[in-house]
Amino acid sequence: MNSNSPHAVVVGAGIAGLLTAIVLAEHFPRVTVLERDTFAGSDARRGVPQARHLHGLMEGGRAIIEQLCPGLTAEVVAAGAPTTEVLAGSRWYLSGLRAAPTETGLITLLASRPLLESQLRRRAIELPGVTLRERIAANGLVADGGRVTGVLVSAAGAAPEAIAAELVVDCTGRASRAPEWLRVIGAQAPEQQSVVIDLGYSSRTYRRKPEHLDGQLGVVVSTMPGRRGGGAIVVEGDKWHVTLGGMLGDHPPTDHDGFTAFAATLPVPDIHRIVTDAEPLSDPVPHRFRGSVRNYFERIATHSDGFIALGDSLCSFNPLYAQGMTVAAQQALALRACLRKGTARLPARFYTHAARHVDVAWRMSTGADLNHPGVIGRRTPRIRLLNSYVTRAHRAAHVDPTLARTFMRVANLVDPPETLLKPATVARILWRARGIDLPAE
Ligand SMILES: Cc1cc2nc3c(=O)[nH]c(=O)nc-3n(C[C@H](O)[C@H](O)[C@H](O)COP(=O)(O)OP(=O)(O)OC[C@H]3O[C@@H](n4cnc5c(N)ncnc54)[C@H](O)[C@@H]3O)c2cc1C
Repeated sequence: MNSNSPHAVVVGAGIAGLLTAIVLAEHFPRVTVLERDTFAGSDARRGVPQARHLHGLMEGGRAIIEQLCPGLTAEVVAAGAPTTEVLAGSRWYLSGLRAAPTETGLITLLASRPLLESQLRRRAIELPGVTLRERIAANGLVADGGRVTGVLVSAAGAAPEAIAAELVVDCTGRASRAPEWLRVIGAQAPEQQSVVIDLGYSSRTYRRKPEHLDGQLGVVVSTMPGRRGGGAIVVEGDKWHVTLGGMLGDHPPTDHDGFTAFAATLPVPDIHRIVTDAEPLSDPVPHRFRGSVRNYFERIATHSDGFIALGDSLCSFNPLYAQGMTVAAQQALALRACLRKGTARLPARFYTHAARHVDVAWRMSTGADLNHPGVIGRRTPRIRLLNSYVTRAHRAAHVDPTLARTFMRVANLVDPPETLLKPATVARILWRARGIDLPAE
């Protein structure tokens, strides 16, 4: 490979970084992915502590990943991950009520985050021109005349160096320092918005018995105002991966008794039954997530060519709604569409396109967060009305399989939220929700 041929650098080899590298390999003869961590070992890496907690891949994201990496779902399954039908093969409790079991046409790929990431990494580095360098951290940008021309890096035991590139993509996740890197080179940084939710997770694994959950492979109990939530899914090796969660400082404990007692306070008993019957295989591990953060790159008036931010570095969502990997995949697809029209004005075109997806997921998740009285934010009449309508949709989905299917397709980021606002659907939700009460506290 000619070292003068066009070069793209991706910083960060998480889900967003790997999908970006796969897209860039279609356009750049050389793509280098830089990762601060090492990939030794099969467990969660230091740089992605969230990988120790449930990582549900929504069907919208799975379908895009399959489009970018044909055959990947089958490879992840061959590596040990089960699949299930979202409502026919697993259980979703929305506002404490089980969504009616039915065929939805939605697949859930029950892979742990380390397994999904390792399979994606293998596919990325198989591509011609893609190089993955581990134990090398980026700490700034190189610019020339308002254009980013490379990235500053330091590798363990080596002197700091600059790596030249026609395009640098920041995929360093929610702790991204891209806004600061841009300021240092005199470029405009994005406005930032945060929604504080003070979410705590605690997760551990258990040995699964076939009779658990009547043989079904997953259960999700969504949080609701004043109530805790959790999930248990079967992951590789016939294990339950159980995550418990609570918002606004109500965090699950990390000792055995505390963890089990927290599970008993969920609105439904399914997860508590698993954790009291199954043998624990690991100790609970905690994670604290202060809030969702959105960087409005699309509002920057003058972009530095040669640089974009993608994935959590652009927007990091409340993990309870399991949107992050899917929105990263949507952004990778947006980048591919933009690159197919050339590289002129790439940042502006990319951020505009990506914002369409980010807007949808951001409105869904921050709107739902505002249903919790302790979350600070502006509750417009529209948000109040939508939240009350969504609770009715949960009640209606409990008794109406068609509505359960419609709702899950929106939650899985397959169909747009407007689907729930079609007049016939609104009428059906209001009619079917009558007389269905939420579980008592
Ligand atoms: C507790 C928790 C649970 C979650 N659950 C879900 C879920 O159920 N479903 C879902 O879809 N999403 C979930 N998410 C979100 C999901 O993890 C991310 O949205 C998704 O992985 C995309 O992130 P990313 O690739 O942008 O960043 P990350 O996955 O955080 O990857 C960033 C990478 O950049 C590397 N890096 C950082 N700084 C540097 C540097 N300076 N130089 C080189 N490398 C660097 C890191 O080591 C890391 O490998 C969850 C998040 C959290 C916090």
